[in-house]
Amino acid sequence: MKNIMITGGAGFIGSSLVKFMIGKYPECNIVVYDKFTYAADKDNLKEFIHNKNFTIVEDDICKYQSVYDVICYFKIDTIIHLAAESHVDNSILSPGTFIKTNILGTYNLLEAARQAWEPDNFVGKRFHHVSTDEVYGSLSLLDEPFTETTSYDPRSPYSASKASSDHLVMAYYHTYGLPVTISNCSNNYGPNQHKEKLIPKTIKALIDGEQITVYGNGKNVRDWLFVVDHAFAIDDILHKGKIGETYNIGGNNEISNIEIISTIVSVYEEITGNKVRSDFIKFVEDRKGHDFRYAIDFSKLTNETQWRPTTDFKIGLKITIKYYIKKFTNND
Ligand code: NAD
Repeated sequence: MKNIMITGGAGFIGSSLVKFMIGKYPECNIVVYDKFTYAADKDNLKEFIHNKNFTIVEDDICKYQSVYDVICYFKIDTIIHLAAESHVDNSILSPGTFIKTNILGTYNLLEAARQAWEPDNFVGKRFHHVSTDEVYGSLSLLDEPFTETTSYDPRSPYSASKASSDHLVMAYYHTYGLPVTISNCSNNYGPNQHKEKLIPKTIKALIDGEQITVYGNGKNVRDWLFVVDHAFAIDDILHKGKIGETYNIGGNNEISNIEIISTIVSVYEEITGNKVRSDFIKFVEDRKGHDFRYAIDFSKLTNETQWRPTTDFKIGLKITIKYYIKKFTNND
């Protein structure tokens, strides 16, 4: 691993991964390839821009020639693919961009990597695709967590587009021998996330004195992983994972939406000393096709790489809440 391209590196998880990679592999060249959509933030990368081993390419993964040229010019040997449209609500409102970026964009990257790497018989190369647990569908409270052999059952345009991209990645492995790995991860939390997502959105509403809207009865359950633990997992898969395999990544922190909001409220009151309005939570009509529960069995990853999440949920959440209170209070 010498020259690493991280697509979507200006987004939430991507920027955390960039920080991890620059810290752990100072001898490697890191190239962020990102279109800088509304979800990206240049500030997420500002601490690295003077680093001589770090380059930002501002472009769209849907442009084949651009992607191919970047892979060849920078002699990229490792692609970690995170670029995507990532918000389920947006995918319900306008699925088209999800189909374009998440499916066609992934196809472009795969094809460019194949064309660039095939002459070397793919030696020393890796394409790692970052995906979601949402491809597996929805669980009831009594169901066993998702494993890597759980059938795909995506239920939103977002999860369907990610499922399609996962299938394309595997097709390139089976058909052309492209050296791929895939990870399917549960909900991430931590710094640098766009304010449209549940945790930053809740904190912004608290600061602005507004209500937070919650779908249905708020009892939908998600598993949460601290974003830095995700970076460790990807690194372990790159070094110890097997080519052609899929790995689930989870946080062992199943919690309902309403519980996470209540926790944020009490931490917010504790930190700021402000009393939160009693009608802070406003229940609204449920999201269309709202999955009830996601839960992840990540024992395959632990067995093969010894990875496990290390950030205590309460501590990670407190760090995250403090980060957003500071950010939003400074009107960032
Ligand atoms: P994000 O929305 O914060 O960031 C996405 C990044 O991709 C942005 O920087 C954006 O500019 C870039 N991008 C979007 N379209 C692009 C295009 N056409 N060309 C180039 N760049 C483009 O997303 P995130 O939450 O950091 O998620 C990153 C990846 O991880 C996604 O593939 C997502 O499906 C996956 N994932 C996210 C979570 C989560 O909880 N956030 C969980 C599991 C998997």
